[in-house]
Amino acid sequence: MSAQDLFGDMATLEDRALGAYLGLAVGDALGGTVEFMTRREIEHKYGVHSRMIGGGWLNLKPGQVTDDTGMALAMGRALITSGGYNGEAVADSFVAWLKSKPVDCGNTVRRGLRRYINQGTLEGPYNEGDGGNGAAMRLAPLALISFGAADEDIEAWTVAQAHITHHQGRSDAACVALVRMVHAALRGEGVSGVRAEATRLIEAHPKFGFSPYRGHSSAYIVDTVQTVLHFYFSADSFRTCVTQTVNQGGDADTTGAIAGMVAGATYGASAIPSAWKGKLDRTVAAEVKAQTRALLMLAQRRADG
Ligand SMILES: [Mg+2]
Repeated sequence: MSAQDLFGDMATLEDRALGAYLGLAVGDALGGTVEFMTRREIEHKYGVHSRMIGGGWLNLKPGQVTDDTGMALAMGRALITSGGYNGEAVADSFVAWLKSKPVDCGNTVRRGLRRYINQGTLEGPYNEGDGGNGAAMRLAPLALISFGAADEDIEAWTVAQAHITHHQGRSDAACVALVRMVHAALRGEGVSGVRAEATRLIEAHPKFGFSPYRGHSSAYIVDTVQTVLHFYFSADSFRTCVTQTVNQGGDADTTGAIAGMVAGATYGASAIPSAWKGKLDRTVAAEVKAQTRALLMLAQRRADG
């Protein structure tokens, strides 16, 4: 598609792009309440958990986000400052985020950032144990700045940001597939466009097959992607997709963030319930909006050549 086709209807594109990024933050904040709970525990305590009330094991304020959104914003800052993908800038920004004493930080992320601090390397050796969802939870800004880029660049930047903390084949495959799903949605291809990318992922890596759904919603990238895809394809709105995803429990902030990103790109920011948008941490919401505009502008400038 030409730059004119991709960026011609800027209002619609911006709504979908903001939907992806705001959807990630909203899903993170909603899911944080029930992270590490089982589906049955959530049902017993909330019936259906669908309100931005904070709490959970991190004792969050209503609308407060966790590491998923924190790392996404950190990557977005680096992409905007550099005007494109720059590995050192992204890693430095992740380190600045870590030093800001975030509310939480996964073990694989912490280990990867320590390696960068101590050795200056942008990736560690391949590690089958790096199969957590930490590289996939922060993709929204990368998906926006790489919209309309060549396939090999999309893949190279996506995998490079992943390898700063996670160097594992299924993590890489999932990250690339998720970015491509967001791109399909940004092009207006809707659920069927996302379906084509899911099929492509599962053909290459059958472990990601999610039907029948096994009900595992852990931080293992395969469980996370299966959960997101199962609820994304069984829902017909942002609200249903994200609500059902986080009510599965487990790593609910991250499954919520990823489901929110893909559903937000599909249905647009205007389809995110106002009650959720209104409760989202204001500083976060403002930065998400500003970054979305800047990232799209950079993507358009590159596409225009
Ligand atoms: Mg989190």
